[in-house]
Amino acid sequence: MPTIIDGKKTSQDIKNEIAARVAEIKSEGGKIPHLAAILVGNDGASQTYVGAKVKACHEIGFESTLVRMEDTVSEEELLAKVEEINENPDIDGLIVQLPLPKHISVEKVTDKIKPEKDVDGFTPANVGRMALNWPAYVAATPYGIVELLKRYQIETSGKHCVVIGRSHIVGSPMSILMARNGYPGNATVTLTHSRTQNLKEIAQTADILIVALGKPEFVTADMVKPGAVVIDVGIHRVEDSSKKSGFRLIGDVKFDEVAEKASAITPVPGGVGPMTIASLLYNTLLAAERKVYG
Ligand code: NAP
Repeated sequence: MPTIIDGKKTSQDIKNEIAARVAEIKSEGGKIPHLAAILVGNDGASQTYVGAKVKACHEIGFESTLVRMEDTVSEEELLAKVEEINENPDIDGLIVQLPLPKHISVEKVTDKIKPEKDVDGFTPANVGRMALNWPAYVAATPYGIVELLKRYQIETSGKHCVVIGRSHIVGSPMSILMARNGYPGNATVTLTHSRTQNLKEIAQTADILIVALGKPEFVTADMVKPGAVVIDVGIHRVEDSSKKSGFRLIGDVKFDEVAEKASAITPVPGGVGPMTIASLLYNTLLAAERKVYG
């Protein structure tokens, strides 16, 4: 049986560690970390995600502010709100929940967030700092994967890491992090995408396979080297009448058959997914303690 990389447990461990640090800060009379989230419109999934982030803040003792704006809000009004929070010394971290309505430029809004408060790690300043291997806020999903590799002591140095998918939020930053000089890192990285030829043959040479392409159960056992470490980022709902909810979650990897070949694997659910909120909270703690920008 492979090692099952348990993201649920690891994210709870991280939350406990942050909560302990918050208790220390409180006892020292220091400033409690404060996260602000801007939510535009009434999209159900976005409300759920933001709600979970605010709830997690309360659980670990952070302060939080939720700013809700109508989906008819103008780009100027949203930019002005970001600027107001940028200048509010009481707020350490700011996230703007995506997606935004079509009439608002995600680039303009992201670029408006002060890099010092960009705890989602989406601004060009933080992506650049991450690429330079400087202190940076690393985006939640890549940070979560790095933390799982660390806490499960997965050897990465000299290994061949194949990343499937090159999105700005997952695949591209993952390829940079795995190649950088440090731990986890020092891997030889191949970044693949929809134009890649011979993907199956390339995947078969991976010691570490990171899968983030958004296609249910795309990676099958014949694509995986025996003993590989497999990280599955994909999340998909499929109908399942045997479940009370009527659906179940699956990943980009065909778990049962790949697990038989892998030395370690993340399940879906309970793998990479639960790590994202822990990453955001960790970045907010770094922001409050001025650990990234000094
Ligand atoms: P995305 O923006 O849709 O990017 C998908 C990437 O996969 C693209 O680079 C695309 O190539 C590549 N791709 C598509 N089909 C391919 C194929 N047949 N062979 C090789 N590469 C292919 O996806 P994403 O935002 O990174 O998300 C990926 C998955 O992870 C989704 O299921 C998403 O729901 C999930 N996700 C989970 C979390 C989490 O917290 N667990 C966080 C974020 C995302 P091109 O660039 O050539 O188009």
